[in-house]
Formats: sequence, C-alpha cells, structure tokens
Amino acid sequence: MGVDVKNNGVVISEDLLRLFEGIGEGMIVTNRFGEIVGMNRAAEKVFGVDRELNLRKNSALLLSGVCDPNTKRPVASPNLPFNQTIASERPIDSKEFLLKRPDGKEFFIQISTSPFFGEDNVLAGTLGILIDVTNRRKLEETLTQRNLQLSAINRIATLLNRTIDFREVLEYSVRQTMDIFTGDAGAILLPDKAGRRIFVAASANLSEDFLSEVHGSEITSNVFGKVLRADTVESISRNENQVLMPRTMRRSPFASLVVFPLKAKGKAVGVGALFSESSRVLEGAQREIIEGIGTVIGAAIENSRLHEETIQKTRLLESKNRELQQFTYAITHDLKSPILVIEGFARELKRSGRLEVEQDVLIDAIMTSSARLHSLVNDLLDLARVGSVDAVPEETNMAQLVERVLNDMSIRLAEKKVNVALEGTFPQLYVVARYVERIFMNLVDNAIKYMGDQASPQLTIGVQDKVDHYLFYVRDNGIGIQQEFHERIFAIFQRVKTSDTEKVEGSGLGLAFVKKIVELSGGTVWVESAGKGKGSTFLFTLPRQ
Ligand code: ADP
Repeated sequence: MGVDVKNNGVVISEDLLRLFEGIGEGMIVTNRFGEIVGMNRAAEKVFGVDRELNLRKNSALLLSGVCDPNTKRPVASPNLPFNQTIASERPIDSKEFLLKRPDGKEFFIQISTSPFFGEDNVLAGTLGILIDVTNRRKLEETLTQRNLQLSAINRIATLLNRTIDFREVLEYSVRQTMDIFTGDAGAILLPDKAGRRIFVAASANLSEDFLSEVHGSEITSNVFGKVLRADTVESISRNENQVLMPRTMRRSPFASLVVFPLKAKGKAVGVGALFSESSRVLEGAQREIIEGIGTVIGAAIENSRLHEETIQKTRLLESKNRELQQFTYAITHDLKSPILVIEGFARELKRSGRLEVEQDVLIDAIMTSSARLHSLVNDLLDLARVGSVDAVPEETNMAQLVERVLNDMSIRLAEKKVNVALEGTFPQLYVVARYVERIFMNLVDNAIKYMGDQASPQLTIGVQDKVDHYLFYVRDNGIGIQQEFHERIFAIFQRVKTSDTEKVEGSGLGLAFVKKIVELSGGTVWVESAGKGKGSTFLFTLPRQ
C-alpha cells in the first residue's frame, strides 16, 4: 500500500499495511482533508489505478468518478462518505455508489468509512472499506427486469382474456408487445390457408413501403416466414448481413428487429415482429419472455378465430333454418287450397242428392280423408309458424295454466276414468302462455291416448324448483315406450308402431311441437320410461327467467 506519510498526519504501521493487503475487499485511506493517500490492491483494481500513481495528487480526479447510483451524476464533495466522516467524526455505513472510471468502465461500489485519530486524539483521516457490488446489482437489475416482463406477460394475458374479437386481439397484441419491449413499431403476420404466403394482419408505426413489401410475400422470402416455419425467435440487427431481412428495413429508421412465433397447440400460427430504432439483440431471459408472450398471443388468436367461426356457422345455420321454415310454410300453405277445393266439391256432390249409395259411400271416404288432410296441414302450418310470429312472453301463472288445460280435457279424462294428481308448487313464469299451454295439452292428450287397457289410469303433473330452472313432468301409467324410441318420437311424423298404438289416431306431430316450443323457450325435453307397459314420464325444463 502506497501511503503518503508526509504533511498529512497519517501514519500507518508496516504490520497494518500487510494486513490491508491480505484483505480481499478494497481499503482506502484518506487524510483529514478527504484526500486519498492510500489504497490496497483490491481498491486499486476497482479504481483502475497504477501502483505508482501519486494518489494524493490524483485524489480529486479519482473521487470525481463517484456518482449517485440512481441519477448517475457525480456526488458533490461534501457528500462523499470520507468527507462526511471527517465532518462528523463518525463512521458511515455501507453506502452504494456508481463508480465511473475515466476508461469508461462502470462499477457499483459500496463504501463504509470510519474515522481514525492520531496520538493527540485529533482526527487524522478516514479508513474506507470498498466492496464491488456490480455483479449483485446487475443480477438485481436482471431480476427486476425479468419480474417486470413476467408481470407484462400476465398483463397481456389478462387483457387478451377480456376480448374475443379477432381484430381487437391482434391490435392489443401489437401494442402490448411494443410496450413491454419498448419497441418503436410492431406487427402481427399470419399465413394464408395454404401456408405459402404471409400477410400483415395488424401493425403499428410501419411505413406503407414496408407493408407492401411484406404483405403477401412468399413464406420463403423473408425472416417472418423463416420464424413461422422454424418456430424459433430471431433477433437481428440491421448491420448484420441478413439475407432474409426485408429490403425496406435498410431504408427504415429501425436498427433492429425481433421476430417471434405465435404458438397455439404447440404449432406456430403466425409471427409477431418488433422493430427498434436502437440496435439491440434479445438474449437469454428476454428471448424466453418473448416466446412466452408469443404463446399467449397465439392462444388468444386461435380462440378468437374459433369464436368467429362459430358465429359464422351459427349465422349460416340460422339463415338455413329460416329458409327451411319459410319453405315448409309456403308448401303447407299451398297444399291447403286444393284440399279446400276437394272438400268443397265433395260436399257439393253430396248435397246434389243425385248419387247412388255406392257413390255416396265413396264421397264420404273422400270427405273423411280430406278432413284429415286438412287438419294435418293445419298442424304443419302451426308447427312452421311456432316462434316466427307474434310470440309475446307474458307473466304467466303456471298453476292456472295447468288448471285450464285439465279443464279443456276434462271430458276425455272422465271418459277414460283417469285419476289426476298435481305435485309441487307451480310458479309464475315469463313465457308465451299459448305455447306452454300447447305443451301440456299435447302431453296430456298423449297420456290419455296411450293409456292402453290400464285398469286404474293415473296422470300426474308436477314441477320441481331446480334453482336456475324449473323441471316440469307429465307422468302416466299407460303403455310405456321402449328405450330405442325415446329420442325418435320427438321428430316430426315419428310414431311407434306396435299392437298397442295401432288403433290410436295421430299424425306424429305432437311431440315435435313440444320439442320446438321447449327449445325455443331455452329448455330441454326428454322421456323416461321403463319400457312396454311400464308407463311414461315426459319431462321438460323452462328457465327461471
Ligand atoms: P302422435 O300421438 O300424433 O302419434 P306424437 O308426436 O304426440 O304423435 O307422439 C309420437 C309417438 O310417441 C306416438 O305415436 C307414440 O307412439 C309415442 N308416445 C307419445 N306419448 C306417449 C305416451 N304417453 N305413452 C306412450 N307412447 C307415447
């Protein structure tokens, strides 16, 4: 340790000097004027000074490199820990500084100082311990940055979760990645279906020139296609002679470019591009972060695409459905007038009274058949119309509604000696009463029709409160339905043909009605039956509101 012992009152023994050299940390000795008069090798290394340098003469220059770690500006002389210790005659504990050396190198250092006194107990100078904390500081900075970026991934994921709109997802993604990686421009590029060309789906701050060069370019022609195919991040600077760099990039203000894959289900579905005016290359953790962001964006793009597809398919289905409904309506409507004509002429013939007995019978048969056809066409028309016209929901008292239905059917119920029971508390519901009445009407009608030769016919109508919906049921102890027909009977014109049903009249439209009305009201309908002769229970749900 070179210690200037003349004219400054600092005297350090040889033993102490040897001890200082042995210490790994830097040691600095100042005189009582705050001038550096000695350093051990460790401190010399940090300050980058030569053994032979006259420390005291260069003290001011050396200390001028001590800066505030946050503002990075030189610390004023009275605020240097050595001078603070001299002024207060007290130690100063571990203060952190940034040391900017004349050769441009920078170190983060921690300095602790203590005063020391001469024989007459007069302050002689300070002894400073200097620790190089550059590595720790860098690690801290990396960690903080990594933390910031991780929270950025989190933010981008949360944000993208909020929207399912394709355009919004793309635009948010460009903006957010620019934000996180302080990019000056950005873009999302997606391939065409054939995977041959790549298109700019969203962009920010990019010139028309650039966009027209890249938009629709061959997948093999530039770095975007390369990343899409190779599925790895490319971080390149304009200065590197990159063959796949877009030509216009050389004329742009951007010095570097990061291209990263947007992945969904492990596959690149597009690429993200981030342009920066500064020349930088992403490495290590930053690459991982941008890969993570790519996965978040990829998943969001895929989700919103699926959503769009579903919407389009639903629209198509709705329009096909409407078309079909109009078609059915038109056909049944057109069928109606010729039937009316047949009915009319048959009636006229009969009334003219100029018929043989045989002809009279035939005319009767024509009249019965056309009457059946007439009612069938009417039913079909009704079915086609359900949901399409004046179906206005209203507050409906379900107990009264069921009562009305039972009343309308009372004669037939009495004829068949059916015992009727009600179960549960019927609620008030906001429904199209006319429709719901039809559901019960059809189900009760079927229960009577398909009672078979049951000695004590029983009909139960019930309801259960299922929190977000009500479950209604109509149960009978009639002929029952085999499992294989449970689904089919709800389709139009589907009837079960057995010896039990043979003589029962019907068109196979009743349950199709029930299903259509229930589903239009937001519920579901199904049947439960243990099989032939075991009775049937028809159940349907209606949403609470
Ligand atoms: P329809 O009664 O006019 O034939 P539906 O659509 O109302 O038409 O019923 C379809 C078929 O379902 C019926 O033909 C019958 O075979 C069966 N079915 C309906 N309700 C019952 C019931 N309560 N018990 C047994 N079978 C039934």
